[in-house]
Amino acid sequence: MTDDTRSEAGPGANADPRDRRGSRHKDTLVGHAARDPVRFSGMVNPPVYRGSTVLFEDTATYEGRDPDDYKVMRYGVHGTPTTFAFEAAVAELEGGHAAVAVPSGLAAITAALSAYAKKGTHLLVTDSAYGPARNFCDKRLAAWGVDIEYYDPAIGSGIGALIRPQTCAVYCEAPGSMTFEMQDIPAIAAAAHAKGVPVLADNTWGTPYFFRAFDHGVDVSIHAGTKYIAGHSDTLIGAIVTNEAQWLTVRRSVADFGMCVSPDDCWLALRGLRTIGVRMRHQMESALAVARFLEAHPRVSRVLFPALESDPGHALWKRDFDGAASLFGVVLKPATDASVVAMIDSLQLFGIGSSWGGYESLAIRAKMITRTATPWHPEGPMVRIHVGLEHPRDLIDDLEQGLARLSML
Ligand SMILES: *Cc1c(COP(=O)(O)O)cnc(C)c1O
Repeated sequence: MTDDTRSEAGPGANADPRDRRGSRHKDTLVGHAARDPVRFSGMVNPPVYRGSTVLFEDTATYEGRDPDDYKVMRYGVHGTPTTFAFEAAVAELEGGHAAVAVPSGLAAITAALSAYAKKGTHLLVTDSAYGPARNFCDKRLAAWGVDIEYYDPAIGSGIGALIRPQTCAVYCEAPGSMTFEMQDIPAIAAAAHAKGVPVLADNTWGTPYFFRAFDHGVDVSIHAGTKYIAGHSDTLIGAIVTNEAQWLTVRRSVADFGMCVSPDDCWLALRGLRTIGVRMRHQMESALAVARFLEAHPRVSRVLFPALESDPGHALWKRDFDGAASLFGVVLKPATDASVVAMIDSLQLFGIGSSWGGYESLAIRAKMITRTATPWHPEGPMVRIHVGLEHPRDLIDDLEQGLARLSML
């Protein structure tokens, strides 16, 4: 373990003040947040509550219910005690005011963006955004009359110059999907807030465990809970966490779309969240070992991973993040397409498939990268690696035999 990973003191003993949430360490919090055993017959975890109709005592109580109180039992679509426990735990860990569970990470993006982007407004989106987020902006929001402007992810406080009177929000993602470029989120947030514009960020890579979005100026934090939060490749779920000022704007948007999540999926995601710390710290260490091996390999041009000292985003990552996800990009030296496919197909321990954040390693080609504001021309083919909980030595051996299959150009 190295200084950069800030985990040499071991679980629970870390002296980094960023690991402390209020008076308690975040590892304590992740185990205790939003638990209420007295309510659930002493059970450690909340049961799975199934139900649509919620019955009220009398007409006055039924008719007097507060439409803006989304944390009481009203109707199944707005959540159950299982949903509320998951939402409260995520919000508490990230340091937000409240969270709402949605059916997927993409649903979290679309519901959050739709809360702000209205006809005639202008939306600033990082050029490094997750592909389907871009697609939603270009195919849906644009058709609804929203002016979408993509900006250089490295813009920092320069975002201020792009803000117009009609700007409804600034959308960030750090590091960016596929290209892993860091963003100076505090600088962007300061410039946006100076003009009264809220900042939305996809924090799927950072997670509530490794990036305290609200401490860095984010107003609305978006998560694909499908990834590290659920953590076992068995659930699709999203979460939107907000500060107090943005809560009703976002929560009403989710309600207007009729989005809701099954209690089973909330239960699984909450179960996953309880172990996010041990999994992520372990996966980060393994990812660093694998990334360092790749970085030193003669067939690799560079590794796109802000946790590496060589990464251009390292200083920002080190300043703002408490750790790194185990997902990174690899730019190979020029090699034939067929041999890159042969390399990936030869891997025994890396699955080929979408998503990440589970316990298992994955490898895919990173081919479809759309850019409109800033160029992206890697010097060779790109591969995206997710490092799971396998032993890094075995993963490195597997990659070593795979890299031997490359036919260099
Ligand atoms: C996977 C992913 C999403 C979407 O999550 P789903 O649950 O698969 O819809 C959103 N943002 C990022 C950065 C992702 O990697």
